[in-house]
Amino acid sequence: MVVALKIEHEESAYSTAIAQYNRATQHLTIDENIIEYLRYPRREFTVNFPVRRDDGKIEMFTGYRVHHNTVLGPSKGGIRYSANVTLDEVRALAMWMTWKCALVNLPYGGAKGGVVVEPKDLSLREIEQLTRRYASELIPVISPHMDIPAPDMGTNAQTMAWFMDTYSMTVGYSVPAIVTGKPINIGGSKGRTEATGRGVIICMEEALRAHGYNDASKTSLIIQGFGNVGSHAAAYADELGFKIVGVSDIYGGIYNEKGLDIDSVRAHMAETGSLEGYKDAVHLTNDELLIMPCDVLIPAAMEGQLTKHNAPDIKARIIVEGANGPTTTEADDILEDRGIFVVPDILANAGGVIVSYFEWVQDLQAFFWDEDEIFHQLRRILIRSYDATLRAAEDHDVNMRMAAQIVAIQRVAEAVQTRGFYP
Ligand code: GLU
Repeated sequence: MVVALKIEHEESAYSTAIAQYNRATQHLTIDENIIEYLRYPRREFTVNFPVRRDDGKIEMFTGYRVHHNTVLGPSKGGIRYSANVTLDEVRALAMWMTWKCALVNLPYGGAKGGVVVEPKDLSLREIEQLTRRYASELIPVISPHMDIPAPDMGTNAQTMAWFMDTYSMTVGYSVPAIVTGKPINIGGSKGRTEATGRGVIICMEEALRAHGYNDASKTSLIIQGFGNVGSHAAAYADELGFKIVGVSDIYGGIYNEKGLDIDSVRAHMAETGSLEGYKDAVHLTNDELLIMPCDVLIPAAMEGQLTKHNAPDIKARIIVEGANGPTTTEADDILEDRGIFVVPDILANAGGVIVSYFEWVQDLQAFFWDEDEIFHQLRRILIRSYDATLRAAEDHDVNMRMAAQIVAIQRVAEAVQTRGFYP
């Protein structure tokens, strides 16, 4: 297999990202030099920094920021706090951001960041210190015109507020456009928090229509993950009348074939912090939930969830990827053989970065839009991108993942061709 940088683990997110790229480029007639160039991340930063814990001790933490590509504009992508973050994972996620932004036609390249930390083990004060120090370590490589972070797994609007404040205090004036996904009262955008989940459901509706499902109340959904993406996807699907039969968080899943009462699930979650102990449902492990009967499965937790081990048993007819990289390449092949229609991550979860783009534009112009405008433009961009992907799938006789990658890589490659290699 052609590899850009050494792959640390065979089933890692990076090996999946590179395998997808190698497959997609076989369908493209682009210069071999450009294909090779786009295999590499442009820049990778590793920072090690101290944080004073509440007991007075200093602990060292490691953080990363990878800029995969910046040909179409400043790089864009989230920051993840998780004990499992590795440079390999951040590389993969940065590469997927390049394709995601290109697919939905945003003037951005792709980036990703992460800190190796289990946020639950730190107090709020410690998380603030960690965020501020990590932000200050990244100052040489971020700016509203160079690289614009956003929330991802384990981070949220408050994290972005500390990030924005640290950057602003360093340069001496307020720079709201340095991050997206901020609280609204400091330059955040209406609709940003809900955007990814809502986008997932917009894509799901497109896929359902094409597969002859036209009664929401008879269409059953399982959503893996109840974080920012999963919980907002559930809320929007519930509002539209879909029957959500299963949801899960890191503790496990709940399933009720008659449909869950999503308001009471959200209330239980808000009250107890997990799905544990929720009544009116059968309790299952995350693995068991993925193979329960449903029409649509929405993996919205993290990468590497649908594998060769569970793909043969998945009952859903349609999969809409809320998470980045939830399906391994081997699972992809099994799902395709089984005729399961997959709406890929870089399309299905692009709603987040689309509204991030709106937020950045609003910050740069210091002029803010209302929520109707945001959701109208979000839908317009997603449907246009969905249609472009579907057309590419027909033209190249490939599945939606390959088609999305083909459209995205082609756009970035053409930009490289137009700009030429420097010097
Ligand atoms: N972390 C999100 C993603 O994976 C959003 C990135 C952004 O808004 O820049 O797409």
